[in-house]
Amino acid sequence: MEIKYANTLCDLPPYIFAEIDKKKKELQEKGIDIISFGVGDPDEPTPDFILKTMKLAIKKPEYHKYPFGKGLKIFREEVASFYKRRFNVSLDPNSEVHALIGSKEGLAHITLAFLNPGDIALCPEPGYPAYASSTIINKGKVFYMPLKEENHFFPDFDKIPAEIVSKSKIMFLNSPNNPTASVYKEEDFVKAINFAKKNNIILVHDAAYTEMYYDNKKPMSFLEVEGSREVGVEFHSLSKTYNMTGWRIGFIVGNKDIIKGLEKIKDNFDSGVFSAIQETAAVAMREGDSFAEKMRSIYQKRRDFFIKNMRNLGFKVTPPEASFYVWTKVPEGFSSSEFAEFLLDKCAIVVTPGNGFGPSGEGYIRFALTVSEKRMEEAFERMSAIKFFE
Ligand code: PLP
Repeated sequence: MEIKYANTLCDLPPYIFAEIDKKKKELQEKGIDIISFGVGDPDEPTPDFILKTMKLAIKKPEYHKYPFGKGLKIFREEVASFYKRRFNVSLDPNSEVHALIGSKEGLAHITLAFLNPGDIALCPEPGYPAYASSTIINKGKVFYMPLKEENHFFPDFDKIPAEIVSKSKIMFLNSPNNPTASVYKEEDFVKAINFAKKNNIILVHDAAYTEMYYDNKKPMSFLEVEGSREVGVEFHSLSKTYNMTGWRIGFIVGNKDIIKGLEKIKDNFDSGVFSAIQETAAVAMREGDSFAEKMRSIYQKRRDFFIKNMRNLGFKVTPPEASFYVWTKVPEGFSSSEFAEFLLDKCAIVVTPGNGFGPSGEGYIRFALTVSEKRMEEAFERMSAIKFFE
């Protein structure tokens, strides 16, 4: 029998991080010592205080049942406390917070709740691939909003044609941004909220990286901005802040009717987040501020070391204000993919080619600073043998 995939599956671009991981593993199997700046997955382990909590939580028989619904009270209340403490945003844990199996899960499902076939989702590009994939899989249409350096990688709403705007139901935004590391300010969010209100578009803000910042410049939550809750929601994640990518835990906060829509989809698709993980995540949020601070100082040292060494090699690189990404132009004469391949061939270094995040990423590469300083030193030793610029 011939197995035929749905058209939507054929329309999906290859998932760039999975492709990179495959290539890396192939080379490693050949015995090559790869230094990977590819995928944004923290290299440090989940801290002990979180592991200890999980060891106890996992023994509770009541947690061995289906964890249906919006999440444990203790988890939702801790999300609300975290938002109050960190952003001075008050949330009703009963109606304005919902647990997710990682924020990617929620981002992937939210379009199902709001797009009818042919409706448009406005997706930033370069951007985290889940926004467009979610739209394509759920039979919506993607309109890409280019993020340009001259506009601090914020979309230009005036460039979206009126006939596109009128068919748009959802807009995705992401700050601190993956891959550009751009951090949006209040006036950016005000622009987005006004645009969303005027055109009846649901605003979905992805805030996975708000806790990975440098020089003590704290990125803001979209929900700090007046009017945000009328039009939108924010997705957040414990993955990056507490080195918990493998645990699959995140949440959505904000407009309760939007959350209700996602909840209905999730009720039909999954049965919630393992309760032991939710309880542990609550403790991570309650007791994890000093751990997050410790991680920030590690990333700060890495960022400073990395930027200094890149500049020594001749790259004109802007230090990120937040996120653990460095987004930089490739040397003249190379495309993004050519330069990524060049680094792999000549230095056994993995980076992500910018065009993998969308056509406006052409001419850039992304480094994830999820590599120890010692390994970074080695990477720069390898690169110092090459003359990148005349
Ligand atoms: N949003 C952005 C911008 C990301 O880069 C990622 C992961 O890399 C996610 C969301 C998903 O995070 P998670 O599903 O682990 O919460």
